[in-house]
Amino acid sequence: MFPEDFTKRIRTQKYIDPESLLRSLEEPSPVSIRTNPGKWMKTPLYAEPVSWCKSGFYLDSRPSFTLDPLFHAGCYYPREASGMFMDQVFEQLVGSVENIRVLDLCAAPGGKSTQLSDLIGDSGVLISNEVIKSRSSVLAETIIKWGKGNTIVTQNDASDFSALHGYFDTILIDAPCSGEGMFRDKIAIDEWSTANTRLCEARQKRLISEMWPLLKENGLLVYSTCTFNPGENEENINWLIKKNEAVCLQLNINSFKGITEIDFNGVYGYGFYPGKIRGEGFFISVIRKTSKQDSVRPASSKMNEFKTDKNDLATAEKWCIKDPARFFKRGEDITALACPVEEYMFLFRNLTVRNGGTQIATRKKNDFLPSHELALSGIIRKSSFPIVDLNYADAIAYLRRDNFSLPDLDDSWNLITFKGVNLGFVKNICKRFNNYFPVEWRIRMNMPEPGKENIIQWD
Ligand code: SAM
Repeated sequence: MFPEDFTKRIRTQKYIDPESLLRSLEEPSPVSIRTNPGKWMKTPLYAEPVSWCKSGFYLDSRPSFTLDPLFHAGCYYPREASGMFMDQVFEQLVGSVENIRVLDLCAAPGGKSTQLSDLIGDSGVLISNEVIKSRSSVLAETIIKWGKGNTIVTQNDASDFSALHGYFDTILIDAPCSGEGMFRDKIAIDEWSTANTRLCEARQKRLISEMWPLLKENGLLVYSTCTFNPGENEENINWLIKKNEAVCLQLNINSFKGITEIDFNGVYGYGFYPGKIRGEGFFISVIRKTSKQDSVRPASSKMNEFKTDKNDLATAEKWCIKDPARFFKRGEDITALACPVEEYMFLFRNLTVRNGGTQIATRKKNDFLPSHELALSGIIRKSSFPIVDLNYADAIAYLRRDNFSLPDLDDSWNLITFKGVNLGFVKNICKRFNNYFPVEWRIRMNMPEPGKENIIQWD
């Protein structure tokens, strides 16, 4: 079932127990989620915690995420557990730094970015990037649902970041790789070849080289893959350290059963091997840049065309809790930026920005339409909208954009919630309402029969 060259190679690898690994790769993937501490503090029933991540949980079976309104509200994100180790990198090596600037270079579909957006706090800024356009749309959707407001989504190649030298405190390269850690999925097996592992090694070296000048002095490069191939893992880190002034950092893994510390001549990496841990295969290593590095300073530029007027400002302040100095208007869209306006303009001039923070509203002549991003974000001033909390069947109807009735609507904009968490807006017009849930996000699956809902149960 597995490629012969792969099984031959892992039998030569010092840290791998090949029989246990291969057996485990034939078993179904564990199901796990990470909850959103900004929205939902409950824990799932029939679940076990992921020891290295406070908000990570293994579920006892696979629910239907698509038919769960709380998934669409951004209360949790389905993710494999090994990659949640990012919590430890921040807890042990980054600490709680104010105004931190972080780049997630290969970010789609966004699992690690949602975690980073929580870890950097409200003063930090995350640039969450994905080079492939269709995947960057999925990434933007994940970030909007998470609703933290401190994230800028871009769609660029690594080489496009060259103007940002010395700008970042931390860069994550969750590199495209040969995917051996995902071999429970047949597609990953079919795509594997020795030749492809070599291509991956070369591409990863390019990404590392492009990213290195962007780190500040003492900044951290976090490098991860989902493969067991040493050429894409510790050997790449060794190559980086030999060429640059850098040190590889160790993490304390004593409390976490099954994680393997890889010591490759003083280069440290952490291997997550199915059979030893509950999760997919994963490798992570953290490197500190010790050389001096000049930093770019965002220059001020004329911004009159992006200024909000009196009416824009009044609406933005009424609908959202954010420093008005961050309000920004482009065309008719008003956004609460993730970073100061000057800094945003600098990023905007250099990168293809898809989302600058949280879109608050769109102006239509003298009227304002609240944006779906606002509904899902932590900066919404909820007291400004009448709230309609739906039962499960109506919530699914709303998310499917079906026709259904809502008898008790106030005039104009109403905020739709499920179990008290925001799902989106409707606008009441006489005896009917318009559903403002985005068409492109609507659920296409059929409503489950009553009593057959297969969704997560919470404490
Ligand atoms: N970090 C993501 C998460 O946790 O959800 C998973 C990232 S996945 C391992 C690697 C990503 O790198 C893919 O989305 C892929 O499209 C992207 N990628 C592919 N080639 C790339 C390149 N040349 N530069 C940057 N990213 C690339």
